Amino acid sequence: MSRKVRVRFAPSPTGPLHIGGVRTALYNYLFAKKHNGTFVLRIEDTDRNRYVEGAEQYIIDALTWCTIPFDEGPGKEGDYGPYRQSERKHLYKNYAEELIEKGSAYYAFDTPEALDHHRKDHEAKGKTFIYNWHNREKLTNSLTLTAEETKSRIASGEAYVVRFKMPHEETVLLHDRIRGEIKIDAALLDDKVLFKSDGMPTYHLANIVDDHLMEISHVIRGEEWLPSLALHVQLYKAFGWTPPEFAHLPLIMKPTGKGKLSKRDGDKMGFPVFPLTWETSVGYKEAGYFPEAVINFLALLGWNPGDEQELFTLAELVEAFELERVHKSGARFDPDKTKWYNHHYLQLQSNEDLANSYASILEKELADDYAKFTIDYITTVVSLVKERATFVADLWELSSYFFKAPESYTDKATKKHWKEETPNILVSLAAVLTDLSKFDGATVETSCKEWIAEQELSFGKVMPPLRLASVGDLKGPHLFDIMSLIGKDESIGRINSAVASL
Ligand code: GLU
Repeated sequence: MSRKVRVRFAPSPTGPLHIGGVRTALYNYLFAKKHNGTFVLRIEDTDRNRYVEGAEQYIIDALTWCTIPFDEGPGKEGDYGPYRQSERKHLYKNYAEELIEKGSAYYAFDTPEALDHHRKDHEAKGKTFIYNWHNREKLTNSLTLTAEETKSRIASGEAYVVRFKMPHEETVLLHDRIRGEIKIDAALLDDKVLFKSDGMPTYHLANIVDDHLMEISHVIRGEEWLPSLALHVQLYKAFGWTPPEFAHLPLIMKPTGKGKLSKRDGDKMGFPVFPLTWETSVGYKEAGYFPEAVINFLALLGWNPGDEQELFTLAELVEAFELERVHKSGARFDPDKTKWYNHHYLQLQSNEDLANSYASILEKELADDYAKFTIDYITTVVSLVKERATFVADLWELSSYFFKAPESYTDKATKKHWKEETPNILVSLAAVLTDLSKFDGATVETSCKEWIAEQELSFGKVMPPLRLASVGDLKGPHLFDIMSLIGKDESIGRINSAVASL
């Protein structure tokens, strides 16, 4: 019978979560949901030197904003808590001792200075010092000391570590759901430290013990943990526990060149690398991205559904996601693609929702004049311009002229379209507009066009300068829609201002 799916995201709270971490969390979430499993958040905070205040809350807030909440974790206690390793401290010592009793681990008393000496000594001979089967019999540990000596050293308070006794005669056969079979020669591995006399486990011991106690069925984590896999598998074997299945995710690579995506790439090229703002680094949220866009682009950074489909809702991702389709090689990060996704998800927002988001920008830009505009008006404006917007913040650049008369006119358009006869033409047209009793788009359009025909003018002589006067530029949606929306007085006023100032 296959195990109930329980996966975990196990970040160390050493700073903000990088989007690579968010992707790891996302893949865990998708896998859990696809298999009706449980998604656990475990905070691996045993290394107090690297602990960063606020990082845990940041991780929780980031997962919440990305709409991939955990089922069990800090603040959502389930049957396997506590979910912070610092609160599980008391558990690990017994497991270290269990391995010692089983002959799979031992106490080591070598001081940092002594180890350094061995390292240098080896280097001088052109060799590398590894604390393993090759050297362990020559070092200061419970394998070389008598039982009494070991006991008395511990009793006297001497600093020690517990090391795993890596079996060296075997080839470790590893299976990774993404990478397939991997063979590792155990003779090359070192006797990793599992526990220290300060009472703290190392990452390896705590991680294995907790995955076991929390009944984790699948470990889905970043590629940087692949070198630890052989040790982890050997630890499971030593304990006599069934290991979970493993899947190591590919790195997220820089947009150009070699290496993995870093905060520096983001700073240099102007894109976020964190989901939420952290100190001076602007997050995806604050940069105006929709969580749907972030989730969608992250899902496709290292996975594909096997066809060309690029747009997925979270529910569709859950449905389509398969570990076997995760790539082995690094996934190149493409900042333009993230914008493409955001543009798509902005189009899916209702005009009302966008208008509500836009309202806060308008409030700032327009100050007292903001009160002149109803939310219906803002909604209509949004409906006319949103096609060109990637972010809500783009709406101002695209539609400011719906809220205030142009303060200047672009040079290029003015030079090209504002001719000597233009003022006369526009003043006559303004007179026609003044006489209109209705000012809807269709009426304005028909009367303008009829007038142009009567005057035997070309459209090119009238329309571009009329747009320039109304908008300040040649951009914008259908001009008669703009005029009708800003209204008759405003339209005529803008024509007069342009005539006066150009
Ligand atoms: N605490 C480790 C990290 O920060 C967890 C690695 C794992 O998932 O095993 O990534």
